[in-house]
Amino acid sequence: MVVPNLYIDIGDIMSKLDLLIRNVDIVTMDDARMVIKGGYIGMQGGKISFASDSLPENIDSKNVIDGKGKIAMPGLVNAHSHSAMTLMRNYADDIALETWLFDNIFPIEAKLTEKDVYWGTMLGIAEMVKSGVVAFADMYMFMEEVARAVTETGVKANICKSPVQFFEGGELKRLDKSQGAIDYYNRYHNSADGRIKVFVEIHSTYMFNEKTLENAATIAKQLNTGIHIHLLETVTEVESSKRDYGMTSVEICKKTGVLDVPILAAHCVHLTDSDLEIMKAMGCSIAHNPTSNLKLGSGIARVPKMLEMGINVCLGTDGAASNNNLNMFEEMNLAALIHKGIAMDPQLMSAKTVLKMATCNGARALGFDDSGVIKEGMKGDIILIDTDKPHFYPKNNPVSAIVYSAQAADVDTVIVDGKIIMQDRIFKNIDEERIKYEVDSLSSRLLG
Ligand SMILES: [Zn+2]
Repeated sequence: MVVPNLYIDIGDIMSKLDLLIRNVDIVTMDDARMVIKGGYIGMQGGKISFASDSLPENIDSKNVIDGKGKIAMPGLVNAHSHSAMTLMRNYADDIALETWLFDNIFPIEAKLTEKDVYWGTMLGIAEMVKSGVVAFADMYMFMEEVARAVTETGVKANICKSPVQFFEGGELKRLDKSQGAIDYYNRYHNSADGRIKVFVEIHSTYMFNEKTLENAATIAKQLNTGIHIHLLETVTEVESSKRDYGMTSVEICKKTGVLDVPILAAHCVHLTDSDLEIMKAMGCSIAHNPTSNLKLGSGIARVPKMLEMGINVCLGTDGAASNNNLNMFEEMNLAALIHKGIAMDPQLMSAKTVLKMATCNGARALGFDDSGVIKEGMKGDIILIDTDKPHFYPKNNPVSAIVYSAQAADVDTVIVDGKIIMQDRIFKNIDEERIKYEVDSLSSRLLG
């Protein structure tokens, strides 16, 4: 006799999620529907399965987060940083960029070891994750150590390697390290389950020359990748470019083929109208670093004009030696305010515009096109902000709340590719106490 199977395996008819956030106010950054109140976000296989105001039927999840009193938004993207410069935080302040860089920073950087860069980067990542960053662009030395820190901590990063070694025996030599940049790309691009993207580094047109600019462009083209560059940060660079190349830094980049690949250009404070036209035509992304530019007295980039032209503008902190933190909430707040003040126009740089710069625009510039928006099919790169605090009441526009009221310490949970890397402000796989101990030990040797 055959006994009919009366039991149905629930798992077969229920869709099993890896992670569900319920009852949460969602700022999606999706223009089709910017805010969902009291909604649900499901994640499976690292991606967002749905973001909606009701829970789809037959849904079950391995992990559930109650989002009551919280805002869910795409994680922040720090589009320009030198994470290990946390080691030089509060060391050389209130001086001009060239003096700061050549007399204070370069001599310490000459002493840096792999171990220093690893722990400095770990400190930077810990600080960034605690302030809601899920992805960052980093340019520095011993970049293998940066890749290691990114791989271990679970964040995303666009990292780069220079095809030029500037100094040997304290002298500017510009030694060819092309193979190093190529090997670095081959080893790390799309590694850590796709959490790492690799660009080619051009520190700046003043540290390179025409030949090395051309060479860097050729390498990036061959690898089919982008370039991360500091561009026209100061008036001094405007003058040196005119002297050395007989044209602006943007023009020499165009001439040498640098702009033929995706460009992530930091600062862009002193661009002419014609430079801006070139940047727009070549599809370049610009990383605005308001705190660093103000602190080093470099000036203020014409961001409203860039945005009006349709240039992809994102937001970065720069290194902690010129900021002196890696707090994207401060950058958002500053970016929203300074341009209104300069132009005496409160309608410039709306909270939504600035939030786009800090999320989807940044993700695009770093090569993470599937991140920066909360909607089906995008990566589960999401942060939760605890709004059960006096400075969030009463609960009006959540986009304004993020840009104008929120603090970095309000970030409660950080999720990357659907995996929780911080919850209730506690890291899952970062040993914060160890990092603080190691950095304290290193810093007495470096700065002592
Ligand atoms: Zn920089």
